[in-house]
Amino acid sequence: MKPMTSQPTNIPKNILIVGGGTSGWMVAATLARQWKDKDVSLKLIESESIGTIGVGEGSTPKMRRFFDSLNIDEREWMPKCNATYKCGIRFPSWATREGFKSYYHPFFSQKDDTSIRAFHQNATLRSKNFNVYAHPDSFFVSNFLASEKLAPTPDKKTDYHTDYAYHFDASLLGEFLRNFSVQNGVTHVSDTVSEVLRSENGDISGVETDQHGTIDADFFIDCTGFSGLLINKTLGVEFLPYKKFLYNDSAVALPSHINLDKGLPAQTVSKALKNGWMWNIPLTNRFGNGYVYSSDFTDRNSAEEELRKQLGLMDAAVEARHLKMRVGRSAVCWEKNCIAIGLSQGFIEPLEATALMIVQDTAETFANKLESSGNTDNSRAEVNTKVNSIFDGVRNYVQMHYKLNTRSDTEYWLENRKNVHISDDMEKILRVWDKGGDLLSELRNQASRLVYSPTSWYCILAGMGRFRNKPKRPKANVQYYSKKQAEEHSRSFIQQFPSHLGAIQEHSKTP
Ligand SMILES: Cc1cc2nc3c(=O)[nH]c(=O)nc-3n(C[C@H](O)[C@H](O)[C@H](O)COP(=O)(O)OP(=O)(O)OC[C@H]3O[C@@H](n4cnc5c(N)ncnc54)[C@H](O)[C@@H]3O)c2cc1C
Repeated sequence: MKPMTSQPTNIPKNILIVGGGTSGWMVAATLARQWKDKDVSLKLIESESIGTIGVGEGSTPKMRRFFDSLNIDEREWMPKCNATYKCGIRFPSWATREGFKSYYHPFFSQKDDTSIRAFHQNATLRSKNFNVYAHPDSFFVSNFLASEKLAPTPDKKTDYHTDYAYHFDASLLGEFLRNFSVQNGVTHVSDTVSEVLRSENGDISGVETDQHGTIDADFFIDCTGFSGLLINKTLGVEFLPYKKFLYNDSAVALPSHINLDKGLPAQTVSKALKNGWMWNIPLTNRFGNGYVYSSDFTDRNSAEEELRKQLGLMDAAVEARHLKMRVGRSAVCWEKNCIAIGLSQGFIEPLEATALMIVQDTAETFANKLESSGNTDNSRAEVNTKVNSIFDGVRNYVQMHYKLNTRSDTEYWLENRKNVHISDDMEKILRVWDKGGDLLSELRNQASRLVYSPTSWYCILAGMGRFRNKPKRPKANVQYYSKKQAEEHSRSFIQQFPSHLGAIQEHSKTP
């Protein structure tokens, strides 16, 4: 029984979360912890027969903050979820230009100041068509940690820290968070919602279930996945597809064997294929792999065959899972007495593994707003504007990968490059960069709408080799850095980091 406060609160007394996928349990854990001293009852209903989507194994550094906020140590949750560290994402085969056929999108930290300044300096000069080295790979410690299969957690006392994220088994993470939430006071109901009930003013009043009759609540959180049962189907909030920006609408997933004899990889690899791209995610007991593609350009059998060939699993008896993706976002996520969080609110294809980051952002923003100001028109408008801007900002960054591709092997890549449906913000970024203008100022102007840091934008533009041909020699008095200098600087930090496999094995030994 949790202690209660009798102080007046804006938080509704009875909250029902519908859906027990990763989002449902992340939201439950967040609210249970944040409101542990408040007079609020949290209930989560999930349907065993419908099940969860069961994919979603990559994350962003925001996930660290999630576990920190719940006060859960890595040594506790990581072994239970077969989790590994993620230093960043490598993108092979998106561009064809010599020297730029692969690049790495690092997670960095403020301690990377020197490298960031050096990289910006070189990339800016190269965008002005001076012949200086401008591939991001050499400038960031995190790339060297990944390529040497090191853990991003330094083993000695050092000033240098880099940010990082995790890979994990989505089902095991759901299970872990369910146990945590239940231990922290969330009531778990296993049942299927057959009907959503509404009161006269249009609010949701309860749900009708197969076995537990009617469950009433004051506030509802829609975590029902792509079905958007409450937000779209019941409240009629429009779903805005991103189809004209992002063509991919399907995926096929396959696990493969991981051989740890040569160490444990610490990066996601997102390799471009003929009609999309494939992810390769290392867990402690297997690789998670999948091909994200557009059904307008290929079909499920050809996609599965291409993925199997990539993995050398043509004749293996491993079953593939085929998934349809609803890509886009609900016009608003908070409507009346219901907020949608997770796939129900929207989804941007998983190229930058941002879905759970948005879940976390939405849950935190919503919880703080509800607590401080209640369920008012203003609260809803503020949260909806912020969340929509995050969605559109991530969409822009993800779309930029497609826009910058230089492949010509299939119609898919040509069409993506030609796509005229790009946001004004993206158009300006490209225009400024192509002319060798002041990109940093442009990015600062867009700061309120950008989800990704200026360095991430420099990384993608430079890493995919978006430069003019025949660069000139820089003037003698211009300062820049050689590839060797950049690499030596980055490498000078990596001795302080342990082997990834060793660090993960150490976690399992810790009681
Ligand atoms: C191919 C692919 C790759 C992805 N990769 C990543 C990644 O690398 N990183 C990342 O962050 N995200 C990724 N995602 C997204 C990630 O999978 C989801 O964000 C995450 O799993 C959360 O999903 P969810 O909980 O919103 O929905 P779901 O997992 O679909 O859960 C929905 C829940 O609602 C319940 N439910 C539905 N209807 C009812 C009903 N009528 N009654 C009762 N319960 C009901 C279901 O039983 C289930 O419990 C990926 C998604 C796809 C499609």
